[in-house]
Amino acid sequence: MSGKFDPSNAIQDFLVFGEFGDVNPSITDSSTFTFMSPDRMEELFDHEIEGCFLYSRHWNPTNKFLSDALARMENSESAQAKASGMAAISSTIVQLCDSGDEIISSRTIYGGTYALFKNFLPRFGITTRFTDLADLEKVRSLISDNTRVIYCESMSNPLLEVADIPALAALCKERGIKLVVDNTFSPMILSPIRLGADIVVHSLTKYINGTSDCVAGAVCASDEFIHKLTDINSGASMLLGAVLDSTRAASILKNLHSLHLRMRQHSENAMFLAEKLRELGLRVYYPGLPDHPQHALLTRLMNPGYGYGGMLAVDVGTLKDANQLMTRMQQEKVGYLAVSLGYFKTLFSAPGHSTSSEIPLDEREAMGLSEGLVRFSVGLDNNIDLSFERIKRCLADVGVI
Ligand code: PLP
Repeated sequence: MSGKFDPSNAIQDFLVFGEFGDVNPSITDSSTFTFMSPDRMEELFDHEIEGCFLYSRHWNPTNKFLSDALARMENSESAQAKASGMAAISSTIVQLCDSGDEIISSRTIYGGTYALFKNFLPRFGITTRFTDLADLEKVRSLISDNTRVIYCESMSNPLLEVADIPALAALCKERGIKLVVDNTFSPMILSPIRLGADIVVHSLTKYINGTSDCVAGAVCASDEFIHKLTDINSGASMLLGAVLDSTRAASILKNLHSLHLRMRQHSENAMFLAEKLRELGLRVYYPGLPDHPQHALLTRLMNPGYGYGGMLAVDVGTLKDANQLMTRMQQEKVGYLAVSLGYFKTLFSAPGHSTSSEIPLDEREAMGLSEGLVRFSVGLDNNIDLSFERIKRCLADVGVI
């Protein structure tokens, strides 16, 4: 797609009014909706009617407000909020794939998605080939007549590899395959649909909500695909039923409106820490550093003004050192030893023994995910110098520097 696009500008004029002119839309506290005539109800069972609601597992006005705002942000025709990021991923995949179909997936993806593809979907005849998606010739050679989906994370978990979305999209178009991109790590920063992806999935649990108080997800795609997902007779969203509660949809919508500011601050703080940790001689993975393998690619693809993201990883050598460091950092109030990301406080974990533990050791080694890797989701700290001084003291205490 040509022309400039700013995801934050796209939601700036998203004004919705509640029943009483409320500046926040009223929360629809209802699982079902009344009809004035049986004929109208029958009509709705036959096809969706704009602005008409049936049952909250299908659509709910509050979820629709959030979904519409997310569609604007991702520049997709439509979107649907879901009960979790995994609900967004699993319903998208089972909508696209039948028994006998294949997925080609990046080998560096969130452990839960990896486990879904590797352990769960084969029970339904859907199999996955994991590979390094940066090797386009390899990807091309893995495509078969049964390949339906190429799956990647825009910025991968936890090594922060950046997917070449335009190149993968071109390959997908050539072969009639859908490109599904998980944009959880880089909302605002990357707009995968603008870059050629067919479907974007999100864990709203992370940056988009930003307050680590709920689990939620979203699928952003064409009108046609969202209609398929929500079809009363055959839609994976409707029939598997992982719907988001309207109270949560309302609170996430409020937080979405400060996402652009938060992303800037997360990125600024992460860049500062990445540079400082690098100066200490540590092995740092951060796409904002010029020697990161995809620094130039990300610089070319990203929307200006939101930085290189709030995630970074540091290799401190051994699991023992990583564990000691994280324990000290929590004591020193750097942040929390916790999985997840996108919170206003810094969170850290050792991915090999947490969020990527579903990936077998030999495969983790092949992708460069070392035992001593510590992943940081850098918070919104006002005094990031102080945070760095604390981290430095902890690194010295455990003998890493
Ligand atoms: N995608 C990515 C990149 C993630 O990191 C996660 C969770 O950590 C998920 C998807 C799953 O999201 P949720 O926990 O909301 O189901």
